[in-house]
Amino acid sequence: IVRCFSQRLSVMDVERRDAEIKKYWDRLHLSPEALKQLANAFQDELEAGLEQKSSLLMIPTMVDMLPQGHECGDYYAIDLGGTNLRVLYTRLGKGPKEVEAEAINSAPIPPEMQSCPVEELMDYVAGHLIDWSEQHHCSIREREVPIIGFCFSFPVEQTAVDAGTLLRWTKGYTNPGAVGKDPAKLLHEAFKRRGVNVHIGALLNDTVGTLAAARYVDGQDTIAAMIMGTGTNACYMELLGRITKWLPHYRPRTSDMVVNIEWPGFQAAELPILEEDRHLDEESNNPGQQRFEKLTAGLYMGDIARRIILRAAEERELFDGRVPEGLRTMETFPTKFVGIAAQDDTPDLSRTAGVLHRAFGFDPDSISPQDRKEVKEICAMVTVRSARLVAAAVCGIMRHLGRDVGDPAGGAPPRTCIAVDGGIFVRYGFYRELLKQGVRDILGDAVADQFELRVVAGGSAFGAACVAAASHSYMRG
Ligand code: BGC
Ligand code: MG
Repeated sequence: IVRCFSQRLSVMDVERRDAEIKKYWDRLHLSPEALKQLANAFQDELEAGLEQKSSLLMIPTMVDMLPQGHECGDYYAIDLGGTNLRVLYTRLGKGPKEVEAEAINSAPIPPEMQSCPVEELMDYVAGHLIDWSEQHHCSIREREVPIIGFCFSFPVEQTAVDAGTLLRWTKGYTNPGAVGKDPAKLLHEAFKRRGVNVHIGALLNDTVGTLAAARYVDGQDTIAAMIMGTGTNACYMELLGRITKWLPHYRPRTSDMVVNIEWPGFQAAELPILEEDRHLDEESNNPGQQRFEKLTAGLYMGDIARRIILRAAEERELFDGRVPEGLRTMETFPTKFVGIAAQDDTPDLSRTAGVLHRAFGFDPDSISPQDRKEVKEICAMVTVRSARLVAAAVCGIMRHLGRDVGDPAGGAPPRTCIAVDGGIFVRYGFYRELLKQGVRDILGDAVADQFELRVVAGGSAFGAACVAAASHSYMRG
């Protein structure tokens, strides 16, 4: 059957269809020149955002001391992410980096919890930790005032290390009653409703939790952390003197502070935005916001691919013009499928045919070799664009930090290590490779050779516990 389909396509048809695909490639691949310009644009926005408003929120996190490995005591953590809720208990020992006990649990967040009133969401979160701790012999009820680090993966304007204001929901969350409020307070009240008195010792972004975890484990050479999962973002260590915008209620006690970049808002004229991206944005529940995230992150890559595939089916001969209902429906083509098709190395691209079957109900035998190839290419393009855009952003940070050149005496450039987490980074080695290639294209071999991505899978919960511990031991003197 497959052969019969392929014979129906003349050489001219194939060439014409390949040319259409090439047009997309040309737009999405981003030449080294285009990448360099984007990295410059990112650096400009980053530096502007330290002084005033820019498309990057550049939030001073009030985290001015990262854990060193000598914190000790019992801590809990809650990590509310885009897809999963993680809870953790840890007992940090007296020895350096000594973890005497640890228990962790991760569970998907039920979709209805992402739109119910925020009190209900917080009741669910608090209840989850309470019940789990009871089942795992680390009951939170049995402690006097247990300390919790709260990792909250949304943009929060921090007023202190343990308090802040939710600026907006992202990643599909819409719970009413939360924007403008303090997530730490909302969580604290939920525990009170269950009759448990807790101290929320830290409220932090997941990027900050990831950086803290990497520092705790591996020492001081990690300068930044980034997430590429359901959502995407990065944070890095900045000199206080360069954060010239007003820091509310902050009395300096060290010379630097972690800045949460909030790069989902990044805007630049050079961004390669397709018509499909515009439609995705318009149909999302936060139109106009997080546009960079919508070009890159896991929640969106599948749907971008679906939209490009749909258009090829409607306007060209993909699938012989067959357009099943699912192909017109949002969220039918998850990013996991993009990963499978983009990396499909079977001779007949049977994995690509397989995901088309699972997503849209196509009989795999009815999908021609040309169609398979085209879908695979579309998935590869969406992935490549994402990784190269992130590379440009990373290089913007490196330029700002002076890590884009060797030392003036001609020595090797300094080692730059960035901690990474999030499903896309953790699961797709090829995504990390694409990102590194982007860094190479922008900053050259010498710098790229010293560039390392350190995967800290699921580290943000532990990081939150560590930040709570660090700020607790500081308070105790
Ligand atoms: C949020 C960030 C978060 C990122 C990764 C984005 O949607 O705006 O605060 O760090 O997702 O979870
Ligand atoms: Mg997370």
